[in-house]
Amino acid sequence: MHKSVHTLIGGTPLFELTHELIPADIRVIAKLEYMNPGGSIKDRLGMFLLKHAINNKYITSKGTIIEPTAGNTGIALALAAIGTNVKVECVIPEGFSREKQQLMQALGATVHTTPNESGIEGAIAYAMKLTDEIPDSYSPCQFKNEQNPLTYYETLAPEIWSQLGGDIDVFVAGAGTGGTFTGTARYFKEKNSAIRTVVVEPEGSILNGGTPGPHRTEGIGMNQLSAVIDPSLFDSIHTISDREAFRMTQQLASNVGLLVGSSSGAAFCAAIKEAQMAKKGATIVTIFPDGSERYLSTGIYEEEFR
Ligand code: PMP
Repeated sequence: MHKSVHTLIGGTPLFELTHELIPADIRVIAKLEYMNPGGSIKDRLGMFLLKHAINNKYITSKGTIIEPTAGNTGIALALAAIGTNVKVECVIPEGFSREKQQLMQALGATVHTTPNESGIEGAIAYAMKLTDEIPDSYSPCQFKNEQNPLTYYETLAPEIWSQLGGDIDVFVAGAGTGGTFTGTARYFKEKNSAIRTVVVEPEGSILNGGTPGPHRTEGIGMNQLSAVIDPSLFDSIHTISDREAFRMTQQLASNVGLLVGSSSGAAFCAAIKEAQMAKKGATIVTIFPDGSERYLSTGIYEEEFR
């Protein structure tokens, strides 16, 4: 019997995916991170960031955490602060999904929006300004905080490793801050350096040498290299268009019954590309970071992508 929402975080299931483009002898497996109580992989990070801030006395137990976020980290921090006296203020570019803002507010956080044109950098700058103004406050800033990859190195990666008994040939994950990819890929490479680790981005992201631009796939993509991503772990980089990602997200719902966000669709597209060039009998693991319900207002299941 759980008595705190926090003990519900982690221990998410693995799911073996089917798709006509996956060769018969290859397994593609997704870690269903949308089954965390706040609905995303970031619930793990929220706990780490809050504990780190208090343990290191960056804030008192009545202080304020201020974070620039595309949404899921804000929800996760608000969830982590439940049952404490810590206040959470989230700064989110206004174009990101309205549902995420509502969920942060439902969990007791204050939401500030910044203009879309200034991107996540605008949200980061505004969060820094708030941190200067509000006493007893701290911004963990997931984009440059080593706790971010460490979270996944210490939680997600060992969970997957033990669930599969180390039977992993390829790891595929999207990168927004790059924390998930870097922490998990680092752990896997340390266990077995033959594991291929593959990063996924949308078109309009810079990892593959592209120019920064707008994209509809939420949660992944970078305008500049984040301080927490480790490019030495890139064995390959897949750049997936919004159209491919959204079409796959719709197929995951209608064919498999998985109600996941578009970054999961992009991850699955990349995992299928890897499956088509993998050696016989290979196991490919990917991450489905969040669910689709928080994107219904953004048109995630619109007809145009079918
Ligand atoms: N997918 C979604 C939906 C996300 O919110 C995020 C976090 N921005 C990611 C993927 C990427 O995670 P990370 O920041 O660890 O690279």
